[in-house]
Amino acid sequence: MSEQPLSKSLSRFFVDPSSIDMGAKRARIVDLQLIKQIANVLRLSVGSQVVILDGKGLVVRCQITQMSKKEILLDIRGEMEALAEPLIQVTVAMPLLRGGRFDWALQKLTELGVASIIPILCERSVVTFDQKSKDKNEKLDRWRAIAREAAEQCERSVVPEIQPPTSLTDLVAPSAVIDWDLKFLCAERSEGFLLSQVLRNLQNQENGHQISHAWPMNILVVVGPEGGFTDEEIANADQMGFQLVSLGPRILRSETASVYALAQIMTILGDIEING
Ligand code: SAH
Repeated sequence: MSEQPLSKSLSRFFVDPSSIDMGAKRARIVDLQLIKQIANVLRLSVGSQVVILDGKGLVVRCQITQMSKKEILLDIRGEMEALAEPLIQVTVAMPLLRGGRFDWALQKLTELGVASIIPILCERSVVTFDQKSKDKNEKLDRWRAIAREAAEQCERSVVPEIQPPTSLTDLVAPSAVIDWDLKFLCAERSEGFLLSQVLRNLQNQENGHQISHAWPMNILVVVGPEGGFTDEEIANADQMGFQLVSLGPRILRSETASVYALAQIMTILGDIEING
């Protein structure tokens, strides 16, 4: 059987990493909803080619070899390049918001190439969460589904990680485990430099090969709740080495601020080709 030409139009599906066996060159799909989509909506059948992704950067071209209502088996025909991923890893920490605006931000941040999202609880957060409730797990599952769908739609190779909610205090604490190359806290009406200016300065340094940290850079950007950060929160972050940055003279809503900040980072540092 001759293979279909490799084209951009092959359907792409994210599966659990354990469903891809690179050694045996086989993959399987057991998600019933996905099976229905493949069989009934896309009307693919044995012999059809698809692209399977593990959501962490592994992308394989596969051919369907067996199909039932409960399982689709595929042969792996080859590994593909993980496309559409930025050169830097940006994590956005932002509060939960009312009226579906957090969900909206999740989707847009995913489209813009975010690596990970941390829901945070701040002093003035309007929407809170109960760390212990099972509601937290349900919410996490829903947010992860939103991120996966958005990643699928915009043809990313990686599904952003949605971290469990945490308090701003814990995030900025000195014991925080991740060693960020850059940590920004967006603060309106602060003395901070414009984020775009800070990024351009970094880009210029990179072009001059003076930069000390290795690519891909690990960047954290923190955005506050509707009511803004308290003075203490800002002072604390400042003390912990966060760079306070402004997003300009207008006061943006939290979801706009997060999307705008990420868009600037991706434009200036994330989606550029590095010379030399
Ligand atoms: N209610 C507050 C505004 C909060 S805006 C007030 O009127 O003072 C929500 C969050 O978005 C802020 O905590 C900040 O992180 C971010 N933000 C909004 N506009 C910004 C700006 N111009 N510069 C930097 N951060 C901004």
